[in-house]
Amino acid sequence: METVAVDIDLAALKRNMALIAGKAPQSRIIAVVKANAYGHGSVACARAMDEYAAGYAVARLEEALELREAGIKKPIIMLGGCASAGDLDEVAQQDISVTAHSFAMLEELKAFCKSRPEIRLRVWCQVNIGMQRLGFNEDEAERAMAEIRAFPGFVHPVGMMAHLSCSDEAALKAYHESQLAAFKRMSRFAEGPLCLANSAGILYYPETCTEFVRPGIIQYGISPTLGKRGTDFGLTPVMTFRTVVYAVRDLKPGDAVGYGASWVADRPTRIAVLGAGYADGYPRSMPNGSPVYLNGAVVHTVGHVCMDMMFAELGPDLKAAPGDTAELWGRHVSVEALAERVGTIPYELLTRPTRRARYCYHSE
Ligand SMILES: *Cc1c(COP(=O)(O)O)cnc(C)c1O
Repeated sequence: METVAVDIDLAALKRNMALIAGKAPQSRIIAVVKANAYGHGSVACARAMDEYAAGYAVARLEEALELREAGIKKPIIMLGGCASAGDLDEVAQQDISVTAHSFAMLEELKAFCKSRPEIRLRVWCQVNIGMQRLGFNEDEAERAMAEIRAFPGFVHPVGMMAHLSCSDEAALKAYHESQLAAFKRMSRFAEGPLCLANSAGILYYPETCTEFVRPGIIQYGISPTLGKRGTDFGLTPVMTFRTVVYAVRDLKPGDAVGYGASWVADRPTRIAVLGAGYADGYPRSMPNGSPVYLNGAVVHTVGHVCMDMMFAELGPDLKAAPGDTAELWGRHVSVEALAERVGTIPYELLTRPTRRARYCYHSE
């Protein structure tokens, strides 16, 4: 029996994809599977999404190559920059799309194509609509697209993409509108399809759903915005992060639990020692009183999380025995709520489980 496991519900993944397709009925889906599909396993997820995905998006070359090695033939876009000519060889060979996001990058792409006249590169033009990460600025977009359009080494037409930096809370609506307006202005120069919406765009701003959309976290059933749960939108969490009970101990008042004695029993009670710790991806900063689901009940963490173990208080009544399963997050313990407790976002928690976890894929 595995001590720590990540269960991936591929049927839930497919239901989420169907829901996304319904929310963006005019768009084709580029499924974002970067960072090992947000910790869910990129190859298995990409295969399960096949029916819905027109292509996939990753951050790094190695992530793209992993999909190609697994026999995935659909378009793959590398969202991040591509730094070296050596990478471009591999990119071209494996028919991976890159984004031209600056004049320096564009020069690199052109130089590569000129050195390899037999090759034509697949390129998206990325424009900056306010996040200041990657992309041509508004005053550069016309010239960039003119250069791209005129260059025979690229596969034409070249699409245009941009990324929404905060399409979430109502308070940010004005900012969202300025980003959307900037994209609309720059899209006048586009020669190919447009791709703008991320998860939040798809959920909140149908007008950002252009020819292509790039959902990420909602595919995995999780809310892109604070204060909401994926389930609020009809999504189902795909990942269950679970461990086992190692030991059950009775405590008397005054017994202190864990390193630093940060939690002290104030009554006779019982705790379970669980077989996962921060080296498995459960945050050490998780405060006392955080939920864990065990034997049909929500119990609460006590004491500091150790490297390989942690503690949950069972109280006097809940029965538990070594080997019982404890859900750290999943259907019963929302990863969104845990992220809020430690001042982060669910994206970070989902990508935390380490190679110590066993990945278990279920289709039903
Ligand atoms: C990660 C990423 C996405 C997906 O974002 P979600 O918020 O998970 O939907 C889309 N586009 C780009 C450029 C990204 O980096």
